[in-house]
Amino acid sequence: MIPFVDLKTQYKSIQHELDEAIRNVINDCAFIQGKYCKEFEENFARACESSFCVGCSNGTTALELALFAYGIGQGDEVILPSHTFIATAEAVSNVGATPIFAEIENTTFTINPNDIEKRITSKTKAILPVHVYGQVADMDSILEIAKKHNLAVIEDCAQAHLAEYKGHRVPVGETGCFSFFPGKNLGAYGDAGAVVTKNEKIAEKIREKLNHGRKKGEKYSHSSIGTNYRMDGLQGAILNTKLKHLPKWTERRRQAAALYNKGIKNNERLKGHADIIPPIEADYGKHVYHLYVIRTPRRDELMQKLKENEIECGVHYPIPLHLQKAYAFLGHKEGDFPVTEQAAKEILSLPICGNITDESIQKVLSIFSIH
Ligand SMILES: *Cc1c(COP(=O)(O)O)cnc(C)c1O
Repeated sequence: MIPFVDLKTQYKSIQHELDEAIRNVINDCAFIQGKYCKEFEENFARACESSFCVGCSNGTTALELALFAYGIGQGDEVILPSHTFIATAEAVSNVGATPIFAEIENTTFTINPNDIEKRITSKTKAILPVHVYGQVADMDSILEIAKKHNLAVIEDCAQAHLAEYKGHRVPVGETGCFSFFPGKNLGAYGDAGAVVTKNEKIAEKIREKLNHGRKKGEKYSHSSIGTNYRMDGLQGAILNTKLKHLPKWTERRRQAAALYNKGIKNNERLKGHADIIPPIEADYGKHVYHLYVIRTPRRDELMQKLKENEIECGVHYPIPLHLQKAYAFLGHKEGDFPVTEQAAKEILSLPICGNITDESIQKVLSIFSIH
């Protein structure tokens, strides 16, 4: 069996470090936030080439906190791609604002800047691009549009730890939100997330909000109405331990993608057919392959074949957000986003992780050639 993501093997490879990190948290009773979370925040801010990192409970709350900190709420509109995990839109809804869906690029699957401009109204307050699959969106164009219309930009970096745009790590703009869901490129052993920002005021607002409205040093006095979106000490310690290995795991993902690409391009049966299209890496950046997503008109058939051969695969995502029942109130219909809808029918995610073996990749490729 070839798993989609192999977290057990990853654990075994650094078991001693992780076990010690977990023991330390328990010995020190540093269960909520505390020194291990603080250490992780400092290291992760540095890893992102940014100034501040605020750890929180998960990637969805990271997005909510960032939207809140930029003052986005009731009556505001936020533009985001229809092609993403639903959490991106949920965060907008959960702060009381309205998600406005936009079309994606046919090549990178990231939000199409021309389509963003068409959807700007007097209510638009922010753009929420998603660095989907681990590839950065066309950020120069997005930041330019934002500047022209005086909009905030919050990047959904949940799939893009250490991804680069023109030689710089994400977030490209001021602020980005990360998820450390166990299966993400940097994964906790439970739920966790973070907001990374170059803006100290934004970081302070978020720190206060996620910890019951307490300003620094306050215990039972509360400056504002907050909530509890804090990060656990165990997750902080685990993430800090794993972070040291992330560059190596990221390189392995890129190597795996290169092997898949080569295998697909050299396949005699596929030559000249353009039947299976490997992912397209934009020349402006460095893709970190959270997901390795091919495109093919015979997706369902190929998926079946992989399953029969005990190879796990997935579709990210089969139903665009504008066609989800949850967002039916926005009144969209099939045909509103043709590029997104076509992609949803043709995409297929193959197994990839920081410790995938060459043998596994060859096994997956062999399914294509006998097909
Ligand atoms: C995983 C993910 C999220 C949400 O993160 P959670 O930690 O699961 O809440 C948000 N956006 C995208 C694009 C994601 O992939």
